[in-house]
Amino acid sequence: MTLAVQPPLEIDTFHPPRRILLGPGPSDLHPQVKSALAQGVIGYLDPVFVSMMEELKTLMRYAFQTKNALTFPMSGPGSVGMEACFVNLVEPGDKVIVCRNGVFGGRMIENVERCGATAIVVEDEWGLAVDPQKLEDALRAHPDARLVAFVHAETSTGAQSDAQTLCDIARRHDCLTIVDAVTSLAGTPVLVDEWGADAVYSATQKCLSCTPGLSPVTFSDRAIEKVRARQTRVQSWFMDLKLVLDYWSASQRTYHHTAPGNSLYGLHEALRLLAAEGLEHAWARHRRHHEALKAGLDQLGLEFIVPEGARLPQMNAVRIPDGMDDKAIRRALLDEYAVEIGAGLGPLAGKIWRFGLMGYSAREENVLGALSAMEMVLAANGMKVDQGAAITAAQRVLATHHHVPASATSA
Ligand SMILES: *Cc1c(COP(=O)(O)O)cnc(C)c1O
Repeated sequence: MTLAVQPPLEIDTFHPPRRILLGPGPSDLHPQVKSALAQGVIGYLDPVFVSMMEELKTLMRYAFQTKNALTFPMSGPGSVGMEACFVNLVEPGDKVIVCRNGVFGGRMIENVERCGATAIVVEDEWGLAVDPQKLEDALRAHPDARLVAFVHAETSTGAQSDAQTLCDIARRHDCLTIVDAVTSLAGTPVLVDEWGADAVYSATQKCLSCTPGLSPVTFSDRAIEKVRARQTRVQSWFMDLKLVLDYWSASQRTYHHTAPGNSLYGLHEALRLLAAEGLEHAWARHRRHHEALKAGLDQLGLEFIVPEGARLPQMNAVRIPDGMDDKAIRRALLDEYAVEIGAGLGPLAGKIWRFGLMGYSAREENVLGALSAMEMVLAANGMKVDQGAAITAAQRVLATHHHVPASATSA
């Protein structure tokens, strides 16, 4: 018998090239996370696996700074964490206030509408933090809203909003909060209990430096009460918290879906490394490398789009100088220097470059390597560059800023 489709024997084993990941995520994998991922598969109800899951929840509570019992990794990327928060907390006919200052606030609006609810949108310019006064005004104008959603760290622009203030305002108006902490977790302070945030989601491939595909989430008791009090069934079977919990709660452990075991080993190791480094040291490490990168980018004449004070150290967005070819330059960085940076999204496409310094990517060699590559590529594209000046400026910052413990940066 001749098979209609012949085996494509010309296809070889895939080996990804070496890259330095300085975009909006994924970030470089820590070598120990890589080793953790390559371990053997065991059953998801194996008692050893189950105790690893319990440790994972404990480690995750540390990362989120929460005592929330309901803290676990959803199977799926950050978008699954986002959708899980909305489908569980929003019912058809609800009114939800969504703050939008970039791409991800826009996705929150999509989620609200797909739940059959109405989104009241608080708009801020892309590149700025969410204006708390606008949220206050929207809540006064819509006293029947019971939920506020905002993005803590807008990866599309590099702006950080004041989560504490926004959560305080929401609570004063008797609203629960959904907070996107995808890019902030482990890069800048995410203090779930101190903020009084109710549903917070993140992802593993940004400042946790793990493979993409998991979404750490945490829910307050108030959020759980709201889910329990629903009049309608959660429209998603996969994301229905009541069902997922039968697997993730310590007491029950029944099959819901096959947990992505190896990814969970990786996350366990990434969170363990974070605990060993200490959150404050991780935040300081991101800050230090941001300051160095900023000194170099300033030297190159590249302007940040976010005003000082609202800049995320782990996501640096700068304006593309006039006459520079966005695509050609990013391509040259990748092909000639193995450096990946991010492009602009939506209205910022072609206007900005985004330099991520997330997790294990936030290291001296990457800052210096990226600046060196930028000097070479910009000069080759006709920009007047004082060769070496950006690197020197970054080195000065690195030499004067307090050094972080070796455990944070070494392999
Ligand atoms: C990356 C990102 C997401 C989506 O995460 P995925 O893992 O790509 O699904 C959501 N929100 C923000 C702020 C992000 O940066």
